[in-house]
Amino acid sequence: MSEGPPSGRAVIPDRVEETPDLQGAHPRLSEAQIAALAALGHRRATRPGEILFRQGQRDCDFFIVLAGNVAVVDGHGTPEERVIGVHGRGRFLGELSLLTGEASFYTAVAADAGEVLVVPVDRLRELIAGDPAFGDLVLRAYLLRRSILIGLGAGLRIVGSRYSPDARRLREFAARNRLPCRWLDLEADPAAEALLRQAGVTPDETPIVIAYGRLLRNPSNAELAGAVGLPAPGTPHAGSDLVVVGAGPAGLSAGVYGASEGMRTMILDSTAAGGQAGTSSRIENYLGFPSGISGAELAERAVLQARKFGATFAVPAQATAITRDGRNYTIGLGDGTSVTAGTVVIATGASYRRLDVPRLEFFEQMSVYYAASQAEALLCRGDPVAIVGGGNSAGQATVFLSGHAARVTLIVREPDLSDGMSRYLIDQVERLGNVRVLLRTEVRELLGDQALEAVAVENNQTGARSIVEARALFAFIGAAPCTGWLGGLVDLDDHGFVRTGETARPAAAAGRDNGWQRSALETSQPGIFAVGDVRSGSAKRVAAAVGEGAIAIRLAFERARAT
Ligand SMILES: Cc1cc2nc3c(=O)[nH]c(=O)nc-3n(C[C@H](O)[C@H](O)[C@H](O)COP(=O)(O)OP(=O)(O)OC[C@H]3O[C@@H](n4cnc5c(N)ncnc54)[C@H](O)[C@@H]3O)c2cc1C
Repeated sequence: MSEGPPSGRAVIPDRVEETPDLQGAHPRLSEAQIAALAALGHRRATRPGEILFRQGQRDCDFFIVLAGNVAVVDGHGTPEERVIGVHGRGRFLGELSLLTGEASFYTAVAADAGEVLVVPVDRLRELIAGDPAFGDLVLRAYLLRRSILIGLGAGLRIVGSRYSPDARRLREFAARNRLPCRWLDLEADPAAEALLRQAGVTPDETPIVIAYGRLLRNPSNAELAGAVGLPAPGTPHAGSDLVVVGAGPAGLSAGVYGASEGMRTMILDSTAAGGQAGTSSRIENYLGFPSGISGAELAERAVLQARKFGATFAVPAQATAITRDGRNYTIGLGDGTSVTAGTVVIATGASYRRLDVPRLEFFEQMSVYYAASQAEALLCRGDPVAIVGGGNSAGQATVFLSGHAARVTLIVREPDLSDGMSRYLIDQVERLGNVRVLLRTEVRELLGDQALEAVAVENNQTGARSIVEARALFAFIGAAPCTGWLGGLVDLDDHGFVRTGETARPAAAAGRDNGWQRSALETSQPGIFAVGDVRSGSAKRVAAAVGEGAIAIRLAFERARAT
């Protein structure tokens, strides 16, 4: 694994100072913890400039610094090379990718002569599972480090025009999957042109992604996933007892419980783990997190948990069809492959509704967003923004974006915020100095030549029109169920949500029933369950989705025993 001094040695200054641990991302292990780890690995000396692991490398070892310093380098070997952290005795290296199987997003270089302890990653996983205190320390640090990398714009480079739909697609895919990346805007960032020149690419050949020195020309989401080591489909799917379609809170919960009960579990998602919750900057009403938790972090934790119990993931993997074959169901995927299992959990949730205004599609390419996470906040930093919607998701986005945008205008159709928003959020919104709330107001037009500059709004009581300055528009106006792929196999309600329990009309050929009473979360087809927002009559809350995921597994076991 070790190699000679890299070309980028020059970026590491002769005297390096350790990066302070301001957020708890770089804890120092105790002597007792180091001694316990020493039994699992081996010690070895390091030479100045020696690479311990490279960006793009998978299955790296777990390194603990015993003497000297190790520098964490972004863009190693490129003109943009920079040191983003320095770690000394007792600190450990790596970040979330070490546990998820993704490729490393940076290079670790010994800054001076020293010593490291090298522990194989499988031993680390065993230790994390067996020692909760140590596991918590590593996990917390790794989750924080991922957020820091995203904030620094380290890792991948996406270069393209802000007006390009493919550039937008790639940025969104990276954001939803929490892939650290830097966006280089051809229209605004001089570094973009320099990078294209260096790569020998003309502007009309963009967007491109530079992943660990590899140039990807307008890759599909699956190609990008493959390059960073996300578990994309295409690999043969091993036999499963349980297939969970959708990796939002409901699907992740079903996956964790199914795998922990010993079911061979596969979890699919068309976009990213986390679902709608993954687009929420701070969920404050989920039990056990008094200061709130970002949806992305909740999802990252759940993915690690599901993997720990042996669940496998396929992302991106879009379910496009489902058919019944005796006691099994086969789910067709967008890439032409399929997965088969006796138990299926439908957890495909709901997707955002779009505003009914002219030129929406044009502005959607660069200025209209349906999520307000760290990634979107970086894109509209210092700009005036408008948010449409009167529910909790709009309230959360307002609170979060007010910390990044110059001004926020919240546009609400209803006469009162309390019609759709929880009290705790209304209180927060009302306390913010740079937020203006327009009630009884609807968006009529999007204004701007190349990108959004303002929105024209109308008071739905008086008809008075006004202009709201906005460089970005965030829409949180409800969601429609993702059930098109079910193709009529299970019974849906009038709005397209999946009926379960007594309300589900029995399927014509539900021959597996044998007199078995359909349980509360079971659809009209035996062995197919529906959980979370996709289910008719669901609570549309993270906690409810998580609870239903767990219950569905229990019910699946009861059904299997009884039939
Ligand atoms: C911005 C925002 C903030 C929110 N804040 C809160 C909050 O503070 N508290 C709270 O309790 N609730 C909150 N909610 C609601 C909460 O997020 C949802 O109730 C919850 O995410 C529902 O979980 P789910 O797993 O049922 O569905 P979803 O979260 O919608 O996940 C469904 C998943 O299925 C995938 N999928 C869809 N179709 C397919 C297909 N054909 N093939 C494969 N995969 C597919 C999607 O990509 C998605 O990842 C918020 C919602 C939003 C949008």
